Amino acid sequence: MQNMTDSSRAWEKNIRKVVPYTPGEQPNQPDMIKLNTNENPYPPAPGVTLALQKMDMDSLRLYPDPTAGDLVRAIASFYDLKEEQVFVGVGSDDVLAMCFLTFFNGKKPILFPDITYSFYDVWADLFRIPYERPALDDHLRICKEDYFRPNGGVIFPNPNAPTGVELPLSEIEEIIRANQDSIVIVDEAYVDFGAQSALPLIEKYENLLVVQTFSKSRSMAGMRIGMAFGNPVLIKYLNDVKYSFNSYTMNRTVIAAGVASIQDEAYFRETCDKIVETREWTKQQLSDLGFTFEDSRANFIFAAHKECPAAELFQVLREQHIYVRYFPKGRTSNHLRITIGTKKEMEIFVAFLKKYLAGRKQ
Ligand SMILES: *Cc1c(COP(=O)(O)O)cnc(C)c1O
Repeated sequence: MQNMTDSSRAWEKNIRKVVPYTPGEQPNQPDMIKLNTNENPYPPAPGVTLALQKMDMDSLRLYPDPTAGDLVRAIASFYDLKEEQVFVGVGSDDVLAMCFLTFFNGKKPILFPDITYSFYDVWADLFRIPYERPALDDHLRICKEDYFRPNGGVIFPNPNAPTGVELPLSEIEEIIRANQDSIVIVDEAYVDFGAQSALPLIEKYENLLVVQTFSKSRSMAGMRIGMAFGNPVLIKYLNDVKYSFNSYTMNRTVIAAGVASIQDEAYFRETCDKIVETREWTKQQLSDLGFTFEDSRANFIFAAHKECPAAELFQVLREQHIYVRYFPKGRTSNHLRITIGTKKEMEIFVAFLKKYLAGRKQ
């Protein structure tokens, strides 16, 4: 076998070379407490099980509806929007990738924070989009002024990931208003856990896209459903690109499960409320244990301990089959991102930390 990256091969120069995104690991221990990928600890709405049991298997012979009409209508009705304002895709990762491809084609750099979702720079590199990354301030806040300059587009999550910090809606609106010559995308993967959504602003600003997902607040990471909201012109451009890439992104099973999920608003509110309550409890416990963190409005807390290094905690937790996320590089390399699990899981997590940190002092 020749060297895999032998640059003497003529065809090597025609290859699109990328450094891929690294997803959080998916360990599979029966007794594990999995707090590393911001999944929801509660099952999907009960109606999802029913919808899947009722699936007509014979219908799987047929291609699905390329517009995913049932799902688009259910989402539009939930959010009180017109169907033409809704785009759906295979998780918001797919939706965001389509957005980068559709809207970020200028010569000027797009802007996103230095500490943010680590897929943005991967898509920018993949699609050869120039970018700049304004730094968050010392409290891990987005400084709106950094986005008041010429650019080819703007994207940031709200609340930001992995920090959990919310940017007030008034400041988001200032960013949108200052950038009417480019598209501004607000990635609201975690907005249902208590932040204010920019969704109402799509009626006011034609350059705004709001992206959300079923993966976190609707407990459906394994199903892969994401959506974008914007004015009908933007949604049409997105669909044109999608249909030029793969018409049938949403399969029949996903459409049925997604409709059932969105129809159960009571379950959605109840599980989100439980997570918010457990998050607030966990904040208090972590702070009593000597952790510091900025206030999180998401289903995770991004925390550092005053004495014990993150790398050590990550390792000892792992040995207990308690998985959290640790990003060893950069400004936040002493932080752990801790997803909020069930109250019971968080109690076990906190009890272990209490014991470990006390033992370490002696
Ligand atoms: C989890 C996440 C997504 C992607 O979620 P999907 O599972 O692809 O819907 C997008 N943006 C941010 C900031 C996320 O944390």
